[in-house]
Order: sequence, then C-alpha cells, then structure tokens
Amino acid sequence: MPLIDTLVQQAPRIAALRRDLHAHPELSFQEVRTADLVAQQLTEWGIPIHRGLAGTGVVGILQNGNSKRAIGLRADMDALPLQEFNTFAHASQYPGKMHACGHDGHTAMLLAAAQYLAEHRNFDGTVYLIFQPAEEGGGGARDMVQEGLFERFPMDAVFGMHNWPGMQVGQFALSPGPVMASSNEFKITIRGKGSHAAMPQMGVDPVPIACQMVLAFQTIISRNKKPIDAGVVSVTMVHGGSATNIVPDSVELQGTVRTFSIEVLDLIEARMRQIADNLCSAFDARCEFEFVRNYPPTINHPAEAEFARRVMAEVVGAENVIAQEPTMGAEDFAFMLLAKPGAYCFIANGDGDHRAIGHGAGPCTLHNPSYDFNDDLIPMGATYWVRLAEAWLK
Ligand SMILES: [Zn+2]
Ligand SMILES: [Zn+2]
Repeated sequence: MPLIDTLVQQAPRIAALRRDLHAHPELSFQEVRTADLVAQQLTEWGIPIHRGLAGTGVVGILQNGNSKRAIGLRADMDALPLQEFNTFAHASQYPGKMHACGHDGHTAMLLAAAQYLAEHRNFDGTVYLIFQPAEEGGGGARDMVQEGLFERFPMDAVFGMHNWPGMQVGQFALSPGPVMASSNEFKITIRGKGSHAAMPQMGVDPVPIACQMVLAFQTIISRNKKPIDAGVVSVTMVHGGSATNIVPDSVELQGTVRTFSIEVLDLIEARMRQIADNLCSAFDARCEFEFVRNYPPTINHPAEAEFARRVMAEVVGAENVIAQEPTMGAEDFAFMLLAKPGAYCFIANGDGDHRAIGHGAGPCTLHNPSYDFNDDLIPMGATYWVRLAEAWLK
C-alpha cells in the first residue's frame, strides 16, 4: 500500500504550516500560538476540540459510525531553549528558542492525518487527536493524564511517533518492550567541616569523600545490577571549594540515572543512597541525598506494537520497518503508556540532505542548532496515522 495520494497532494500546504510553526517556536507550557493554530485548523476541518488539559493541550474528537472503539494519536508541540544556527527563511524568529527536536513536524503530521480522516471518515469509532505541551522535561503527557485525558476521552490504545535523524528516509523503527529509558536526577551534598588546607586534621574534608563516592557509584553498574540489565549512572556536576588553601565545608554532586525498568531503577537508587550515607558516616561527614524520578521508561505493549508494525509494513514494506534500538534518551509519552496500551515508534528523518540553503554547519541531529525537520515525512507519517486509525477502527 503506497502513500495516500490526497496526503501527498496536500503536503505542501501542511509543510508551509510546519515551517510557520518552526519560525514561531514556543517553550514547554507556553505553546499558546501553536495551540491556537492547531485548534483553528481542526475547527476549520469540522473536528470538535477540547482545550486546556495541561494548560495548552488540545484534543480533537473525530467520531464516525456507532462503534464504541477509540484510538488516541499523540503529537507533542513544544520547542527547546536553544539559539538556532539556521538562517533559511523559516528559521526561528524568537531568539533563544528553536524547534530542534522536530515537534513542529510531529504536530504537522498529525494535522495532515486529521484533515484526511475528517474528509474521508473511513472508520467506525472515535479518533482522539492529542496535541500535548511540554514534552521536553515538563511532563506535559503526565499532566494531561493526571488531569483526566483517559477518563474524559476513553480510548482502547494510544500511539506516539518521533522523527529520528540518521535513519534512512522511508523507514520506520518499532520494537515491543522498552525503547526509551527512565530519566532521573540526583543531588548529593556532602557536609564536612571546613578548615585551613595546611591543617586538614582540624576539619572533615568532603573532597576525598566525593571522589570515592563518584567511583563507588560505578560499582553499582558493574557489580550490583545484572550485566544484561541496562543502566547508567553519570555524575555530571561536582561543585565545591573556593581557594587553594581552604578545605571546603561541603561538596555537591549532581547527575542523572537512566534505566529501562523500574526494578533496576529501584536497585540503583537504593544502592546510591546506601553508598552515599555510609561513605559519609565512615569519614565523619553528613550526607544529604535527593533523588527525583522524572520520566519512567517508555515501554511498548507487545500486541499494540505488533499491530502498528503491520500497518507500517503495508505503508513502506516490511523490509523498511526496522527494530527500534532502545536509547537511553527519555520520552514523556511513557506516562501515557503506563496508563494505556500502545506503542511509540521512530520515523526516519534522514541525514540532513533535505535542509534548505542556509542551514547551520552542524549535523542534523536532535537538539542540535542546525537541525530541521524533514518535510518529506509529512505524507508518510500522516499515511501511517491514517492507516493505523482506519485499521484499529475497521
Ligand atoms: Zn527533544
Ligand atoms: Zn522530541
């Protein structure tokens, strides 16, 4: 089954809309103009909308026939706090803000699908078009779920999609099970006793304790968790001290922990706490330990992943649906998959050849100031959304 003709024909108009979004990026929970534009488009196509979940969230409610079955399709709308290097016509007009993760493209692909589904209505049931704010660290998906997304709009399953640079255009990637990691932050303050650096016996030096702690944490990865379980502990900030002749009073360690399961996360957090507390008491220091769990792991449900894979295979051919190699990046769609069955996939964004003249010198990778979404994906991503909804609501 090739791409849907109508979507190919309508793609230039949707691409223009995508470029307009790219030129006007808005940060997490500030997607006011973007949400207005989404709401206006859906309304123009006769799709009833609900606004206000997680602040700027928009849900389109597209119903046809009598079936109680329903599917959710989700796109994220927010941009990043980053100065764009591109200088082409649709480059960001807002200093320090940029669509460097392609959420402008995600919004455009779902809008393209919405227009087609509204015009053709070749399904029996309800398609919920979910436009969420604040994927980039704000937990917009979590807020939408907490504010009643799935109670207000009961659906059987929910699906998400992210563009993926480096993969060859024309491919999708999808796997059952964990595909993105849990994302967590820690902050540890080692409180010693400041003294003259020439008389260390007068104080309790937090620096050697911090050094031992950084190294000891890596033994959790190498000695405590099972070797086949994935997990990362990265201490990324070490702060302490003000002069060469002063033993500082305290040292602060901060960093991130990533895992593909809650069990491994529980183990790592517990061991970190134990190591931090006991190392500090061994050296007569005090320990303050903070651990914040941001995003859970993104875990695809096997049946829904297989359903989506079959739809993709019809669109691009089975040989172009490749295994989704799990990445230690995180994704707040995880919160939706904790509440509902569903699957999250990648759509190939290519290696950057699509970028217009005037793109920055950097690579076309996510969160890079020279990135741009590939508009060739609009009919492909939209075809997948349409065929997925039509197949689910046959
Ligand atoms: Zn991102
Ligand atoms: Zn993203």
